Amino acid sequence: MNYCSHCGSAQLNFSIPEGDNRARYVCQQCHTIHYQNPKLVVGCLPVFEDKILICKRAIEPRYGLWNLPAGYLENNETVEQGAIRETREEAHANVEIIRLHSIYNLPHINQVYLHFLARLKNHEFSCGSESLEVRLFTPEQIPWSQMAFSSSTFALKKYLENTTNHPGVHIGTFYPEDFHRKSPKR
Ligand code: ZN
Repeated sequence: MNYCSHCGSAQLNFSIPEGDNRARYVCQQCHTIHYQNPKLVVGCLPVFEDKILICKRAIEPRYGLWNLPAGYLENNETVEQGAIRETREEAHANVEIIRLHSIYNLPHINQVYLHFLARLKNHEFSCGSESLEVRLFTPEQIPWSQMAFSSSTFALKKYLENTTNHPGVHIGTFYPEDFHRKSPKR
């Protein structure tokens, strides 16, 4: 943060405000404390009969890899509305939310994913501007090695483990240290 978004001053101090316990950007001009908190990413795991709808990304990062439709929650929007909107934008698909399926923490980049299990209302879908391809996959066809993000892989794995339609919410976390330890080539 270089400038105060309240008064435009460049005099920002990264310090612990009185009564707080961690450092914040504090404007020396207008004394505004700029709190920074994680962002929510909301999306769907859209199902149609025994198949799952997945999009191939037409944007960076991870251009050309597959991902469940998801994106940043907007202001004045509920998490369900955001997940439905992202699915409409990326896959031109209309879904009905069944329930919250998974929560996935990415503490190193300050993001939290919420994936909702959702039912496609009909068989109509096509590429939105952020997708190269949109396809329905049977569980056997899922391109595991070409998935863009671990949040989608986690949601899909937990869904497929769920043969008895167990209604719990799955909670997972990505730790970059673990990832690097398991993949020494990266
Ligand atoms: Zn200021």
